[in-house]
Amino acid sequence: MKGINTFEEVQRLIVVAAHPDDMETICGGAVALLTQRGVTVFSVNCTLGDIGAQAGDISRPKLAVTRLDETEEAARLLGVEETFNLGQPDGELVADLELRAQIARLYRHTAADTLWTFDPFWAGQIHPDHRAAGQAALDAYMPAKMPLYRPEQLTEPGTCLGCLERVFFFSTTREPDIFVDVSDVYETKLAACMAHNSQFPKGEENLEWMKELDRSKGEVIDVPYAEAFKHIEVW
Ligand SMILES: [Zn+2]
Repeated sequence: MKGINTFEEVQRLIVVAAHPDDMETICGGAVALLTQRGVTVFSVNCTLGDIGAQAGDISRPKLAVTRLDETEEAARLLGVEETFNLGQPDGELVADLELRAQIARLYRHTAADTLWTFDPFWAGQIHPDHRAAGQAALDAYMPAKMPLYRPEQLTEPGTCLGCLERVFFFSTTREPDIFVDVSDVYETKLAACMAHNSQFPKGEENLEWMKELDRSKGEVIDVPYAEAFKHIEVW
């Protein structure tokens, strides 16, 4: 079974998720391990997460602002270099051509060499936004390398056409082949998740489900907590 060494050559990582708190809860530990090693990490949320409330007594714009602030705080705790929000509608994300172009632009703009995103092909990927984010992130991979695709994006300084060369899926039970021991950074992961106070107002008590998931992955490699990924062959 492969572990954190899989990501040895990663220098610039882009994580494409659907909602603020996706990255933190799913792979916040692995992100912390990479930033500690000096990897530059960019986080992309496709939606503002502005329907993420249990009660209807808050306005969507107000919740969106709160969630952007929480995202920044979590990024600070994890050592993430920069966060991007694509402003797509929460609960209604579609892997359309506009979303593909938005993500391709960020591959070019960040010059990331590695992508982590949702596995859109896992049958258990029941949240439509998660499926759409993973699909669009994968769909953006090829065109982003081609100079005639959305050439206006290439006029921005520092853009890179062919930098992205590795793709990994998270949030999958479709034969994950990489298990990362995140036990040493678990407090940091928890803190980053708890920065999303609007989602987890009771702190760690609201995150028992996540700890349980990470413990079950940990059992695979005999450590307290782990996060899992699946490598995708691309060229
Ligand atoms: Zn989500």
